[in-house]
Amino acid sequence: MPVEFSVEKPFPLQPTNASDAQRNEPTCIDVRFKNTTLSFVSAIRRVILSDLPTIAIDQVEVLENSSVLDDEMIALRLGFTPIVSEAFAENIDALEFPWDCDCATGCNKCRISYAINVECSTSEQLPVTQDDIKLLDDNPGFIPAPVPVPTKSLRWDPSGKATVTEGPIDITRLGPKQKLHINCMGRKGTGKLHAKWMPTSNITLRRVPTVRLNHEVLNDILDSHSEKNTLANFVTLCPKGVFEHSDIAGTLTVVNEDACVFCQNCTDHLPEPEMKDLATVEMKDDEFVLAIEATGAIRADNLIPMAIEIIHKKVQDIQDHVRRATGGGDAAPEQEDQGYGGGDHMVQEEW
Ligand SMILES: [Zn+2]
Repeated sequence: MPVEFSVEKPFPLQPTNASDAQRNEPTCIDVRFKNTTLSFVSAIRRVILSDLPTIAIDQVEVLENSSVLDDEMIALRLGFTPIVSEAFAENIDALEFPWDCDCATGCNKCRISYAINVECSTSEQLPVTQDDIKLLDDNPGFIPAPVPVPTKSLRWDPSGKATVTEGPIDITRLGPKQKLHINCMGRKGTGKLHAKWMPTSNITLRRVPTVRLNHEVLNDILDSHSEKNTLANFVTLCPKGVFEHSDIAGTLTVVNEDACVFCQNCTDHLPEPEMKDLATVEMKDDEFVLAIEATGAIRADNLIPMAIEIIHKKVQDIQDHVRRATGGGDAAPEQEDQGYGGGDHMVQEEW
């Protein structure tokens, strides 16, 4: 039976400004897989986390920093600032992994140069944000230049609460006469080297529940004098609102099966003996949901096709090696790695 999958919730993370809305790119999606195995969906998840290449700022040269944050903290914040890597996805082969490039310290085949040069010339605080990361002129011309991702950011108000507001990601803040002058270098890498190259901020694999009511037990409760209280109490056991009790119809129904988180409150932790065996909860063994929250470096809906391409290439590599090892003559000629990430052999010790 073929694997089916459907995208259930493609939605942007509430576009907060005009450029976000214009891009109209889904940042979060839920993808439901049917007729497959846990290991297959888990492989897709792990490849997305560790093998999809993106661009991240990887080397920072601080020329002047009189802000309150030290150099290391600013470098860390720059590294985790998402860079749109989608724009060059079609030409991703054109940008070399640093360990594949002939140069020693970075050239226009393997790095993209940025700079920040901001000075606070007023008496007010000046936020330095991702919008202040500028591309330098010596970048390779054959790659659409990646730019920092416009997104929401956390800000702290005077009461100490963190609030999500519109605007770019803050890097630091400058007081009067303070200055930040930095040159930095973006490189292609993968999540197996460092988390800053991961294209997702969160990706979870969920099992799909089957929630059933035992109608014999339900009828026994309905026949008893305390059915209203018992069923109303049973509904409140579920923190996710899976069940609904209608006073008028006097019935109990499963209304939100997918919301079940397998907490077992409705099966194992029952306050009244009459509720025993009223509900059963099982996990489907051939259906799973992959919930993806992308950083913006790559569109969320492109991650799965890219991951499958990498898995296909890994399997093809194994197939070719096995054929060669067993003397088969049909192995495809070994190709230079030009895919989205390839296997472990790409990570060399010296890098
Ligand atoms: Zn190079």
